Amino acid sequence: MNASENGREAGAPRLLILGGTQEARELAAALAARGTYAVSLSLAGRTRNPLPMDAPTRSGGFGGANGLAAYLTTERIDALVDATHPFAAAMSRNAAEAARRAGVPLLALTRPAWEKRPGDIWTEAADIPDAVRKLGPAPRRVLVALGRNEVRALEAAPRHAYLVRSIDPVEPPLDVPDARYIEARGPFARDDERALLLAHRIDAVLSKNSGGTATYGKIDAARALGIEVVMVARPARPEVETVESVAQVLGWLERLPHHSSPAWRGV
Ligand code: NAP
Repeated sequence: MNASENGREAGAPRLLILGGTQEARELAAALAARGTYAVSLSLAGRTRNPLPMDAPTRSGGFGGANGLAAYLTTERIDALVDATHPFAAAMSRNAAEAARRAGVPLLALTRPAWEKRPGDIWTEAADIPDAVRKLGPAPRRVLVALGRNEVRALEAAPRHAYLVRSIDPVEPPLDVPDARYIEARGPFARDDERALLLAHRIDAVLSKNSGGTATYGKIDAARALGIEVVMVARPARPEVETVESVAQVLGWLERLPHHSSPAWRGV
């Protein structure tokens, strides 16, 4: 996509999306189709081969809230949408602080958390180390659905057999006697998850409460098979205006003062 296609040469207001999620990709695609904003998208740069986006993409940290505030000002950003993952709490804190300092309107787009349903066997955990402790003293066979930067916590409990699934390889491998690795990117269908749990004789699933449909298959499958899920609760996020859908973000953008202002349209 070139600059004019993205609205930049038409004097359109500038929107920065903090991404790394399916929702951010969907929002960029919806806005590309409308052409009312000059959209850019920011990724942390964690994933080696990110999926293609319908917006110019920058990669890497900003240097904390100060760095992001400076970026918002220098790049003359008019609106900021924090569409990062519900567990990307540091980035969300920085976004809230930077938007306040730079005087840029901020909206968070966060998918709802999964709720426990009848038949679910969930053990709630406060964070990942707590989840590892809650696997208990007896050896288990655990499907681990964590990012490769989070799995080191498993080394505190080397008695379990781990099946670790991540988008990029876990390097170096975990310092535990029994770990196997699968590299895969969702979405994962429930029937495939059921087959995986059975094939590896899994008796516990360690999952973050990410929400959304793409990775819910393992939760459905665990319920059907009577397998315990140790569910990591979401970290606290800053108090900012928050919506759950791309359509709600589009509505918010339309209500911003600059959206219909002639000054922003170069009139
Ligand atoms: P985090 O702990 O909240 O952020 C750590 C630092 O990474 C931030 O302070 C920031 O560095 C940089 N960063 C994070 N997101 C960024 C973005 N979208 N653009 C530019 N810099 C970013 O974040 P995380 O949990 O490591 O997640 C990193 C990325 O992966 C996010 O984009 C998130 O949406 C995505 N993701 C995370 C998870 C998860 O479970 N955590 C799952 C799926 C996708 P500076 O302070 O230098 O600006």
